[in-house]
Amino acid sequence: MFDSFFQPTWLDVCLIALLLTHITIVSVTIFLHRHQAHRSVELHGLISHFFRLWLWLTTATVTREWVAVHRKHHARVETSEDPHSPQANGIFRVLFLGAWLYRLEACKSETLAQFGHGTPKDWIEENIYTRFTLLGPVLMLVANVTFFGTTKGLIIWSIQILWIPLWAAGVINGVGHFLGYRNFQTLDASRNILPWGILIGGEELHNNHHAYASSAKLSVRPWEFDIGWFYISILRILRLATVNRMVPQLVQRTEHQYCDADTVKAIINNKIQVMADFLKLVVDGVYREEVGNAATNKVRKRLKHARELLHREWPTPDADLLLNLEKQLEASPKLNEVYSMKLRLQEIWSNNQSSGESMIDRLEEWCTHAEESGIQLLQEFASRLKGYRLANVPANS
Ligand SMILES: [Zn+2]
Ligand SMILES: [Zn+2]
Repeated sequence: MFDSFFQPTWLDVCLIALLLTHITIVSVTIFLHRHQAHRSVELHGLISHFFRLWLWLTTATVTREWVAVHRKHHARVETSEDPHSPQANGIFRVLFLGAWLYRLEACKSETLAQFGHGTPKDWIEENIYTRFTLLGPVLMLVANVTFFGTTKGLIIWSIQILWIPLWAAGVINGVGHFLGYRNFQTLDASRNILPWGILIGGEELHNNHHAYASSAKLSVRPWEFDIGWFYISILRILRLATVNRMVPQLVQRTEHQYCDADTVKAIINNKIQVMADFLKLVVDGVYREEVGNAATNKVRKRLKHARELLHREWPTPDADLLLNLEKQLEASPKLNEVYSMKLRLQEIWSNNQSSGESMIDRLEEWCTHAEESGIQLLQEFASRLKGYRLANVPANS
């Protein structure tokens, strides 16, 4: 035994492990994910090099491999080609064997060739990080034992090594497509695990990320928090980072009571948000009114079921779901009318052939129909829809 530089207490061990693993999570979410894989943020060379070094020391991750596997996940999401979909592989397999699934995919040269472009290829990448991947964690082990002693150093090191396989490969890739709430009806099964993204660097907001994969900020609701974005904001103030893309923000023009080119642009660029608003404000509002007026428990049950199906109906309805939905909607002509207005709206924006002008006309027509429906929440939504425009968010503001 030898004297280490520090003699940490067990409380210190917990705090040190938490701090060091937090730096690793931040490196993964800011450098590997937002910067390298999606190019939503650019980083100063100093910051990039720090993250690369830290990831090599604590995870032995090769940037090109991580980026390629992750981009393939987005491109093939929830199919048999998705490297780690719990829908295709089963939740327990992804949760407990996520790191192994990652390695299987990272070994495929065709995946690296197709999805691994644009990652670092400098001298240190070729000759150190990629060539001697395991040397990083070995050096980290030596440093931990030197600083914190053999037993405590080894414990801290083990936690560091297991942190990413557990939280990123297991929890985000598994639970993030299995359990939690959805702000957006994306084409995949992604979920926001928690509204406060702290422990896993903001990656908890996985549904938001799949809805707007190229946004540097993962939180979208006022009550959500993305700690990764918090650090990016600090780096921006220090002029060590610039943001390329953010979620396009829908804002309301007050007193604007007609559809124009800005309305069309806002809706086309932000269908997911418009539909989320429609579901929350109209579908859920009418559902609550109808439940309040329902005569029997049986009707209430059918309404509840209809609401659930309405939330799942877009963008990937299947024949069984539609049949079931029509059946449940017989319990409420009012909710049925809301459903038909939902379909009309989807049809307007699905028709890509529409010129800007005909789309304005069709949106106006939709609003007139909503105003004449006699359903107050639909009327209010029509007024809201006319006022939509995209906020002018300069990329590097
Ligand atoms: Zn995902
Ligand atoms: Zn991503």
